[in-house]
Amino acid sequence: MNDCLFCRILAGEIPSAKVYEDEDVYAFRDINPQAPTHILVIPKEHIGSVAELREDNRDVAAKCLVAAARIAEREGLTEGYRIVSNCGPDAGQTVKHLHFHILGGNRLTDQMG
Ligand code: AMP
Ligand code: ZN
Repeated sequence: MNDCLFCRILAGEIPSAKVYEDEDVYAFRDINPQAPTHILVIPKEHIGSVAELREDNRDVAAKCLVAAARIAEREGLTEGYRIVSNCGPDAGQTVKHLHFHILGGNRLTDQMG
């Protein structure tokens, strides 16, 4: 998976600003933040996007979201936050490794799409 940017981050080949790690999940700060707090939560297993979720890897997605909730607490996002997962070209997905954006720290736009 050397051609996958986030697999390379997981392998330590590309530096990242880690905010959380456990057996299955890794989270780090987005390099181009779109909100005061902008964190990416990714599974350690390579899954291309939400579209590749199946019964046999469903736990991976759940673990990412549980981790996201804990990270948001730790980051002090008491007024709320948004979780986004871009899936495919119409959503503008640029990195084809499943990731959940945590966006927060101020009032977010009402626009969803
Ligand atoms: P998406 O457009 O949903 O695929 O999101 C990919 C995200 O990865 C974007 O928000 C980028 O800013 C972010 N990104 C790209 N390269 C890096 C990197 N080396 N470290 C941290 N975030 C990155
Ligand atoms: Zn990957």
